[in-house]
Amino acid sequence: MILASQKAVTLLALLTLLPLLVGCGRVAPEAADALRSQPKPLAFTAEHATNALQRVEALVKNHTPRDAGTPEGARAAGGLQQQLQSAGVAAELVRFEDETPRGRKTFANVIGTHRGRSDEWIVLLSHFDTKSGIGPAFQGANDSGSSTGLLLELAAIIQNSGEQHYNFLFGFMDGEECQLAYSDRDGFHGSKHFARALKKEGRDLKAVILTDMIGDRDLQISVPRNSTKELKLLALKAAAVAGHRDKITMLSSVILDDHQAFLDLDFPAIVLIDFEFGSRPGSNDYWHTMEDSMDKISAESLLITGQIVVEMINMLCGNF
Ligand SMILES: [Zn+2]
Repeated sequence: MILASQKAVTLLALLTLLPLLVGCGRVAPEAADALRSQPKPLAFTAEHATNALQRVEALVKNHTPRDAGTPEGARAAGGLQQQLQSAGVAAELVRFEDETPRGRKTFANVIGTHRGRSDEWIVLLSHFDTKSGIGPAFQGANDSGSSTGLLLELAAIIQNSGEQHYNFLFGFMDGEECQLAYSDRDGFHGSKHFARALKKEGRDLKAVILTDMIGDRDLQISVPRNSTKELKLLALKAAAVAGHRDKITMLSSVILDDHQAFLDLDFPAIVLIDFEFGSRPGSNDYWHTMEDSMDKISAESLLITGQIVVEMINMLCGNF
């Protein structure tokens, strides 16, 4: 409802603005900035969750297993690049070699880019390689599959949302899994390579958000101690706003994952991980076994995680 007196004021305001809009067909630069539409808040719906699950299914169906340094691993990377490109996201394959306890191997990270308005970047991460030696048809549906399907869907959502305040990098990491035991030369090859490259380029990273094993039907997300404090608080706030505060816990213990390479280079980083992936609460007995299959993950869990991550992004970007 608009009262008559307000109508007059509104009309006057419009008339004052009019020369800016139509005068000689030009818009003053400062007015142009003000007229740029505010980015809309991102939303992660049940339909997005179904899409994300289908993306996991396709990855598992077409690329099982996808161990780092194998032809199938390289094909999986190519498939991810294609999926990003079909969603309109600029995407590149970054191939590199690294030493491992089983000799020198070739890895391939897949990096998607979405340009925003500022010079700062938000990095969303997942790993897509499977743990080697589990079995001939190890799906890694939860461990690598779930977060990869979610990240593909998040990239499509952000790409469709138009220009956001920050730039985005969608990083699909290869070589997260170790060959024998985690060490300086074993595991986290992709994230170490990616973090070093961004440091060298002098990129200004606002946040690095990694998800891992978040498709578990019995979802209980945890955030280990080794995550940036401000991002931990943000995750709690985002979970509360999304209505999922009961699904996330702060741990007093440390979990090493792909976000650690970024922390080591003083970038703000966090991991959201469900490290209780098993046959009963508190157990992790499906992890790195043939039980890590499609029937153990759900669209509902992808929905919950997707909504928390999207809310974190909205809060970082100031989208309201
Ligand atoms: Zn793993």
